[in-house]
Amino acid sequence: MSDESPGALSINTATTRRQWGVVEAAENYARLGVTGIAPWRDQIAECGLASAIRAIRDNGLRVTGLCRGGMFPQPDRTSFAANLDDNRRAIAEAHELSSDCLVLVCGGLPEGSRDIEGARAMVAEAIALLLPEAQAAGVRLAIEPLHPMYAADRNCINTLGQALTLCEKLAPEDPNGWLGVALDVYHVWWDPALEDMLNRLDPVRLHAFHICDWRRTTRDLLCDRAMMGDGVIDIERIARNVGALGFEGLPEVEIFSNDWWAVDPCDVVATCLERSLAVRRILDCTQV
Ligand code: ZN
Repeated sequence: MSDESPGALSINTATTRRQWGVVEAAENYARLGVTGIAPWRDQIAECGLASAIRAIRDNGLRVTGLCRGGMFPQPDRTSFAANLDDNRRAIAEAHELSSDCLVLVCGGLPEGSRDIEGARAMVAEAIALLLPEAQAAGVRLAIEPLHPMYAADRNCINTLGQALTLCEKLAPEDPNGWLGVALDVYHVWWDPALEDMLNRLDPVRLHAFHICDWRRTTRDLLCDRAMMGDGVIDIERIARNVGALGFEGLPEVEIFSNDWWAVDPCDVVATCLERSLAVRRILDCTQV
């Protein structure tokens, strides 16, 4: 990666969402030495897509992912179709942002449902419908498996193996990786099949690598992610596997944390840069 500073890093704007909007985040990330950004759609909606794009481009940041599409399982066909339309808007936004991918958080069970396999079938149906449209727009889709604690309300795709099976089923011939995955250490670190699944992963399907840490005792299911080094995940081991795949993206810090949202955002960014050094060095020297 000779065109980027050694050990380049992206930050997901969720990490500073209470402190900065997308425009401020873009300006400050770049000023502090960060080279990539992964914005959220709701934050983009606050400032407008044109302002977000201008701030990101003016500051020379690479967009490592747009968060997010998905939420496919719906209680009826009308809402299923309406949600597909929202995903089409997300694809258009990812295209405008020249994002490395559109991250898909696929969705959990519709209200009142106990049919998780039905939910998974709706996920497959929706992605099959959207994939040709994403490809036509030049947007790669990245299924992000989420930790099983979110299976009911956020995502019924819970392991890398499940995500890969979906990719292989929906896009068996996909040399450009239009359908792939976002790998987030927070969601996959516990999986005994993780290394086998990383070996199974076709490198062209790896679109994003999210880092943070898992606090030994989690106090909040959504907003208690830890800074790298403050938890139990062997992030460097996973990073070596990711590097061995020839991952060409940037590691992306993504921390939802009531603690870090209460800190001066410049200190958050400085800490992200410092605590990601080992991972950035690993990816820099293993990238092919
Ligand atoms: Zn993530």
